[in-house]
Amino acid sequence: MQTIGHWLDGKPFTGSSAATAPVTNPATGVVTGQVALASAEDVRTVIDAAVAAFPAWRDASLARRTQVLFRFRELLNERKEELAALITAEHGKVIADAIGEVTRGLEVVEFACGIPHLLKGGYTENASTKVDIFSVRQALGPVAIISPFNFPAMVPMWFFPVALAAGNTVVLKPSEKDPSPSLWLAELWQEAGLPDGVFNVVQGDKTAVDELLTNPAIKAVSFVGSTPIAKYVYEHATAAGKRVQALGGAKNHMVVLPDADLDLAADAAVNAGFGSAGERCMAISALVAVGDIADDLVSRITQRAKTIRTGDGTRGADMGPLVTRAHRDKVADYIQAGESAGATVVLDGRAIDADGAADGFWLGPTVLDHVTPDMTVYTDEIFGPVLSVVRVDSYDEAMALINANPYGNGTALFTNDGGAARRFHNEVEVGMVGINVPIPVPMAYYSFGGWKNSLFGDSHAHGTDGVHFFTRTKAVTTRWLDPSHGGLNLGFPQNH
Ligand code: NAD
Repeated sequence: MQTIGHWLDGKPFTGSSAATAPVTNPATGVVTGQVALASAEDVRTVIDAAVAAFPAWRDASLARRTQVLFRFRELLNERKEELAALITAEHGKVIADAIGEVTRGLEVVEFACGIPHLLKGGYTENASTKVDIFSVRQALGPVAIISPFNFPAMVPMWFFPVALAAGNTVVLKPSEKDPSPSLWLAELWQEAGLPDGVFNVVQGDKTAVDELLTNPAIKAVSFVGSTPIAKYVYEHATAAGKRVQALGGAKNHMVVLPDADLDLAADAAVNAGFGSAGERCMAISALVAVGDIADDLVSRITQRAKTIRTGDGTRGADMGPLVTRAHRDKVADYIQAGESAGATVVLDGRAIDADGAADGFWLGPTVLDHVTPDMTVYTDEIFGPVLSVVRVDSYDEAMALINANPYGNGTALFTNDGGAARRFHNEVEVGMVGINVPIPVPMAYYSFGGWKNSLFGDSHAHGTDGVHFFTRTKAVTTRWLDPSHGGLNLGFPQNH
């Protein structure tokens, strides 16, 4: 059985801690490796490498830094199937979806290749007589990225291409459930010519996270995960004086108005509800049917959901297993709770006959109708293949429901009415909005992030927010010697 360790200074690092956690193939239930869980001392050793590598990388020319990024982009594009296979083996998502994940990460690498343009500052000549001002954006230093299990490659890639391009060094702490993709990416950076110590990986749990949140050498923390941990990370790392962006959980509503194309809406609800077995922070988990279309819509969704092939992601299935047995059972318990609370189980995934090993963590697509806002299937983030249908009478009721929700990651409206669409994207208190688009993930040159309990901090990921997060601005005011500017003046300079 393999041991999955850390990556330090351009090579594997075992660390001093004997603690490990099992890594499982969710499609077979077989434990395939043991991931090292770093001690605080191990984390400090890794941080030391990032500290030592920082000055030279910060001072490397933009031409040099972008050459490494372009090379990394080429290598990743050529070998993305290898990375996708690693993702599927530890996460369970189907191969096509894993390739999609890598591709979305690649887009951020491509965005970061334009860093020379993104770092350009401003220049003002003669702000006062013969006084000029210019501004620059400078790297912060070593930064930490702490990522969740559901996108072991894409979520780290929301951050590290921009962080590195801007001249920072990185310590990545991946999820202990699927740790291998991070090491593969670390090796690829080395192959791309990134100097040793600039990109490092530390595997671990709360012990590792706590050291990253409090160690003074770490200047910024980018976190993605569940809301309680995002809040914890935000509070502790900001208390330690760091810059923090902490992206949390979600409960994404898709509203279907009576004038919508119901076939399009049904396709979208199924794709967005069951893609990656619902283990996406942008998955649609609450379908809000407005008016008398509900019966028809639920029937179209159920017909489609029944055709989804659940099974081993390496065998051409549409939907893979859930990440762990415990998580699979937790989601099944939510279905039971919904049923007990009075929801109608229109499609039940609990007894699915999956195309895969008997011990895989299977749960098929599930549709719950007549869900009400007081049920736990509605209030909680389930993070599984469960679509809850909430019936409302009006647009206003749908909007009130979304805006009362503590999460605000993504939402979508299905309609053919431009006025309704405009009103929706104007009024809704959610960070990412789709109109006839169920999963409105912004492209790399925009920024990704939710509102309310879906994000703590004020910077979203990638795009210009990402560049600003990983740099700090310096404004320089200059005056070169001129005989006319001699003499004492204790006041503010006059603008003439
Ligand atoms: P998680 O919160 O359990 O773990 C995320 C990271 O935090 C992991 O690296 C984990 O090791 C670490 N961690 C876990 N418990 C900790 C603790 N007590 N103290 C310190 N660190 C701890 O999340 P997950 O289950 O891996 O991922 C799923 C969650 O992530 C969902 O809630 C999902 O919505 C969210 N997510 C959000 C976004 C977004 O963009 N908002 C994107 C992807 C996932």
